[in-house]
Amino acid sequence: MQIAFIGLGNMGAPMAINLAKAGHSVKAFDLSHDAIAKVVAAGGQAASCAATAVQGAEAVITMLPASQHVESLFLGNADQQGLLAHITKGTLVIDSSTIASATSQKVAKAAAALGIDFIDAPVSGGTGGAISGTLTFMVGASDAQLARAQPLLEKMGSNIFHAGAVGAGQTAKICNNMLLGILMVGTSEAIALGVANGLDPKVLSEIMRRSSGGNWALEKYNPYPGVHENAPASKGYAGGFGTDLMLKDLGLAQENAIATRSSTPLGGMARAIYSAHSMAGHGGEDFSSVIKMLQKK
Ligand code: NAD
Repeated sequence: MQIAFIGLGNMGAPMAINLAKAGHSVKAFDLSHDAIAKVVAAGGQAASCAATAVQGAEAVITMLPASQHVESLFLGNADQQGLLAHITKGTLVIDSSTIASATSQKVAKAAAALGIDFIDAPVSGGTGGAISGTLTFMVGASDAQLARAQPLLEKMGSNIFHAGAVGAGQTAKICNNMLLGILMVGTSEAIALGVANGLDPKVLSEIMRRSSGGNWALEKYNPYPGVHENAPASKGYAGGFGTDLMLKDLGLAQENAIATRSSTPLGGMARAIYSAHSMAGHGGEDFSSVIKMLQKK
């Protein structure tokens, strides 16, 4: 199948590469030439712009940072026509970025008016999951749209959940990431406390992993350097899931909580902590670097 893949960052590049490895023809576009080159080196084809990438594509996949990027790409702005105008009627568009569910619904409505199927399919599983093709997809779509997307999603992930209609995938994703943000702060606090008391972070992490405090961070993404060889913490907090992206997701969760009058006190506190961490200059580092804020200097 001919696929256009737009947004080749920490997540998008390995996802596009998995589609190319599965035998699909992947036309790749990103604002960064280096990002395109990485996908081309693994079997993709370079596109000179987003409009060129979608020419002749049967499916379009996007993996962009935030709501404003998705909205301006598809719907355009004062200077530029939106990409929807370049996409052939009947094409399936899968947006895997984490964005506001209201934005997904807005773009889906404009797409439907042109006969284009736009669905939201945000992911969980981190860069490790993107590389190994074991992501979890949370899909907001009709049954028929999900059936169309399924064969492609299976090449990039191992768990595919139908959360509900368009936008529902995004709602599930921000609930998950609010919990992840809280868990990472809690895990960091606990490890920092143990280390301040002379415990070995590896030993303490293993004890908690196998006890009632066990969670995903202790399992796969330890915030303390050297505990998990492949975690961003052991690579100077490079790559992974940026602090500013986590801050965006916690902001989306709080906006949603305000709109639905839901009580999310720990989500609000986690947002304030990541905001202070970002302001201190760590916005571009992996979100597990939040442990730096909590460690004894
Ligand atoms: P990233 O910043 O590494 O990559 C985003 C890419 O989009 C960049 O390469 C950028 O150049 C490109 N881009 C931006 N605007 C563009 C445009 N108009 N046209 C083409 N390319 C454009 O981000 P990421 O870590 O890959 O995350 C992408 C999305 O996935 C975010 O919404 C994030 O919240 C979500 N997410 C990330 C992770 C993770 O572990 N990194 C996990 C789950 C979900």
